[in-house]
Amino acid sequence: MNKKSTKDILQAPRGMRDFFGNTFQKRKNFFRTAEGLAEHYGFSGIETPILEHTEVFLKGVGEGTDIVDKEMYNLETAGGDRLTLRPEGTAAVMRAYIEHGMGTLPQPLMFYYGGPFFRHEKPQKGRYRQLYQFGLEIMGSKNPAHDALIIQTGYEILKQSGKEIIVGINSIGNNNERAQYIQELKAFYKKHEHELGETDQKRIETNPLRILDSKDASTKKINENAPELLNSLGMESRIFFDDVLDYLDMLNIPYEVVPSLVRGLDYYEHTVFEFVTLDTQGEKSHALGGGGRYDGLAETLGHNKAIPSVGLGLGVDRIIEIADEESFQDENEQKKVFFISLGKEAHGRALALARELNSDTLQLHLALSDQKIGKQFERAEKLGFEQVLILGENEIKENTIILKNLKTRKQKIIFLDNLQEELEK
Ligand code: AMP
Repeated sequence: MNKKSTKDILQAPRGMRDFFGNTFQKRKNFFRTAEGLAEHYGFSGIETPILEHTEVFLKGVGEGTDIVDKEMYNLETAGGDRLTLRPEGTAAVMRAYIEHGMGTLPQPLMFYYGGPFFRHEKPQKGRYRQLYQFGLEIMGSKNPAHDALIIQTGYEILKQSGKEIIVGINSIGNNNERAQYIQELKAFYKKHEHELGETDQKRIETNPLRILDSKDASTKKINENAPELLNSLGMESRIFFDDVLDYLDMLNIPYEVVPSLVRGLDYYEHTVFEFVTLDTQGEKSHALGGGGRYDGLAETLGHNKAIPSVGLGLGVDRIIEIADEESFQDENEQKKVFFISLGKEAHGRALALARELNSDTLQLHLALSDQKIGKQFERAEKLGFEQVLILGENEIKENTIILKNLKTRKQKIIFLDNLQEELEK
């Protein structure tokens, strides 16, 4: 075990962050907005554990993928179980669908979920080891309209960032079509093996599809002439893909067919897509989310039949980073009031009043302090409060309270019975 210095221990682990103040609030508001839109489109919430049996991801996401080969946080419990901190959501939600026999319910089932996910990646801007995703899944449908519904809901959520969003989309066909294409691709890359980047040379045998979206300059050149998967699709797959594109046209969702788009997870079939935004130079920046169809995942996990499904995962950290300043603000902002009570009895009354006042509309900051009143005004100002309530001995006797505006310095005396009404003005 690495021995850590006190300085190391007092820092969050690499690639993991604390959220408080504005960063906490933005994330919370993002999830609230996303959940609201998902519910609008008929999705309902699901929450699976943070830990799953390691095999769920080994089988589901697949060996040979970056996630499984390099990025999983695995642990062994005292009882000898091998568990993994979830690196993504889809395999776990499918596990839940199978476990609870959801196949007997009216299909499809539509779920949303969100929260922390864990990938042991090299941390950099927009890339974390504890990342946050918002996911959507439609399980038990082979209807291309459901691919469109997933894309539309994701698109609507991303539009809330205030940025222009474009969908990159492709079809990677069914397993047979893909297997045949992979053979073709391997043969092509073997011919050009020495012209490829070093990492890509190793991928020829393990995961040739990944070479297609390589960032390596020499590989990129070779890729210009690589065979395209779209050309290997059979009629049925081609029609399915065209149907998805027709729906996107009907919905006016801007998309671009990207033949090199394959995505890094094993379970995808047919539709795969990614959301990107255009940065100020008009260049594509990295993906804000993506997803696709995974008709074979249930069987890969050991279920006795296929459950055709489609889903997406949005990268919450990146979305918040690129979003306009005014996005994901509090919708119904509560009125914030600083509450000064003077002395023990007044503190007690302040606590009781906080319980009585309507918490949907008011956010009370109970000072409960024995500092001089002047110091308390200073503190309220520093914390950005405009409205202050003051409750002292006299007010208690008279069943009143003082409401003071720190900006205008005006104050008035209010009967306690009218307090809620006055504060909401
Ligand atoms: P994936 O589950 O790999 O399809 O990722 C979906 C989205 O999650 C990506 O498009 C990114 O926006 C986001 N994402 C993936 N990995 C990370 C990471 N390590 N840190 C931050 N965001 C990530």
